[in-house]
Amino acid sequence: MAEPARRHTVVLASGNAGKLRELGEVLAPLGVTLTPQAAFNVPEVNETGLSFVENAIIKARAAAQHSGLAAIADDSGLEVDYLDGAPGIYSARYSGTGDEGNNARLLEELRDVPEAQRSARFQCVLVYMRHAADPTPLVCQASWEGSILRAPRGEHGFGYDPLFYVPEHQCSSAELPRALKNRISHRAKASALLFQALRSR
Ligand code: IMP
Repeated sequence: MAEPARRHTVVLASGNAGKLRELGEVLAPLGVTLTPQAAFNVPEVNETGLSFVENAIIKARAAAQHSGLAAIADDSGLEVDYLDGAPGIYSARYSGTGDEGNNARLLEELRDVPEAQRSARFQCVLVYMRHAADPTPLVCQASWEGSILRAPRGEHGFGYDPLFYVPEHQCSSAELPRALKNRISHRAKASALLFQALRSR
């Protein structure tokens, strides 16, 4: 009989219950038990990096430092070509007033921009650090291509989902059933890469 995988605890540098559940399910077959950083009183860190990778490393390092365990962090956002990659790492804080304000600002910035120049993608970086001083963190990056609509559509999801048009399904990502989005999104693809990287490490 095959030996059962030895379980080990890894800290997730996030307080988001949805991310914990999704990533926890992906990594469970590897014997990983994912625990939220709140269990170790990890303080909020300032995301002072200028790239998704830097910010994910900053978060993972803090979680590893305060827990004494291996840690995973993610950083994600929307990149709009016409805006030279903005809102990018500032996606969550684009308007300073939350999701609705962020979407309103994005529509305003792209008001007179024609269809062909509204290309965009979600980016997700996942970082795994064995300990706080890990000199070779695992870095997994994935994107999800689309374009920016002229008005919000759909009720699911969060953030920029109502404005993000998904060409292969001809709808916004807020119109996709949650289970489908969770199979095809930037985060799903980065999680699959992390699974493969951890399995072969
Ligand atoms: P965080 O990495 O969870 O902090 O996400 C950064 C920000 O990027 C979010 O607050 C959203 O504005 C945006 N974002 C990231 N992923 C998605 C997504 O799947 N749908 C919509 N917005 C997203």
